[in-house]
Amino acid sequence: MRAEPNPVSDGTPYRAWFQCIAGCSEQYSLKDIIYRCPRCGNLLEVRHDLGRLRQRAPDDWKEVFDKRYLRTQWPYGSGVWGKREWVCPDVADDNVVSTFEGGTNLFWAERLGEKIGVPGLWIKQCGNSHTGSFKDLGMTVLVSMVQQMVAEGKDIPAVACASTGDTSASLAAYCAVAGLQAIVFLPKGKVSNAQLIQPIAHGALTLSLDTDFDGCMALVQEVCSRHNIYLANSMNSLRIEGQKTISIELVQQFDWEVPDWVIIPGGNLGNVSALGKGFMMMRELGLISKLPRIACAQAQRANPLYLSYLKGFEDFQPMQARPTLASAIQIGHPVSVQKAIATLQAFNGVVEQATEDELANASAWSDRTGLFNCPHTGVALAALFKLAQRGDINKDDRVVVISTANGLKFPEFKIRYHESRLVDVTPHHTNLPVDLPATYDAVREAIMRAFDR
Ligand SMILES: *Cc1c(COP(=O)(O)O)cnc(C)c1O
Ligand SMILES: [Zn+2]
Repeated sequence: MRAEPNPVSDGTPYRAWFQCIAGCSEQYSLKDIIYRCPRCGNLLEVRHDLGRLRQRAPDDWKEVFDKRYLRTQWPYGSGVWGKREWVCPDVADDNVVSTFEGGTNLFWAERLGEKIGVPGLWIKQCGNSHTGSFKDLGMTVLVSMVQQMVAEGKDIPAVACASTGDTSASLAAYCAVAGLQAIVFLPKGKVSNAQLIQPIAHGALTLSLDTDFDGCMALVQEVCSRHNIYLANSMNSLRIEGQKTISIELVQQFDWEVPDWVIIPGGNLGNVSALGKGFMMMRELGLISKLPRIACAQAQRANPLYLSYLKGFEDFQPMQARPTLASAIQIGHPVSVQKAIATLQAFNGVVEQATEDELANASAWSDRTGLFNCPHTGVALAALFKLAQRGDINKDDRVVVISTANGLKFPEFKIRYHESRLVDVTPHHTNLPVDLPATYDAVREAIMRAFDR
């Protein structure tokens, strides 16, 4: 169903542009193919004409967002496009490439919360999405913008990204929806089978490279700058605008109340920046009056932000990330580190880390309470346990953990955990299938044995 005239299109158009995060004053159109400030080389961010957005009162915005939420009117049923004026006003309805991403459930983790003394524990299930990770939220904006530019006659033969598995899956799916060519750069042997099959199935040119993510990232930037190929990594701040809806949506799901803590795993650090940006924008536009504290959780084997945090962010040293079960955050040279540090400073933030053992057991223990987590969410949960134990998180706090991907994308991780085959992990919550002859006696015996405690 196509949209009626945009209910908020009264008056002058909404306006957004790219601008340098370091304060250089030039503005660039969202249709410019540009990822860094030409003056100083810093990342760009999308800025919005807040004066225009303020012409609508905070309560009216809440009403508009609530009215559109999860409904069918194209494209507003998408959790991202339902907030389009705040995200990317430059795409026409017909060029929106959406799978109705967003609108993910906020799971009250009652049993897990009770076990750790945080009864107000909620998990934002961002992995319950079209390609199984939160990457869809940003990709819908980026690919829609490409579709808009192509419709206006721009020559963009392909869209490319480096990936630890989820970005490539998402890019490939959205390009397939739009009929665009995707090229994905993957570190060979470092993504799960489920992640690898997604770009293959969607017809992306899938380059499996003998390097790590950081190596893929360097290569894709070179290829995009020397050819006419559009870069889809999160240094392209269009993605951040879509991901920013995570915080807006979760506050909306709490009837516009702000939680006390949000915990999020971090690799390239685009998502923690996006989370902060959504909260900031809600506060600037008067929809909320306080900010949560943010905790960014890293794998100990890829922890450059954690090490910098220990030194009060005085300096930041990129590192060679070591192999971790949390493969999507095995990143030693995060592109969005400056944005992330600024976010953590503004949100009285903390950085925590998790070992392989901690992340795997946190994930498995949570699975026992009905979740089904990816290893990266395991990192965030392990960080949560530490913060609760230390008393940084109080028993009265409302806490949201951002679950970044669906556990079903990581079956090898789960299976090897239960078979006690993960290196450096002592599993405490294994549960193996029982092999039996198909007889009543054998089954009865097995059940009695299991419950004879
Ligand atoms: C991309 C990704 C992350 C990390 O997000 P960044 O923006 O790179 O910090 C975490 N978990 C999963 C499952 C991801 O795909
Ligand atoms: Zn600049």
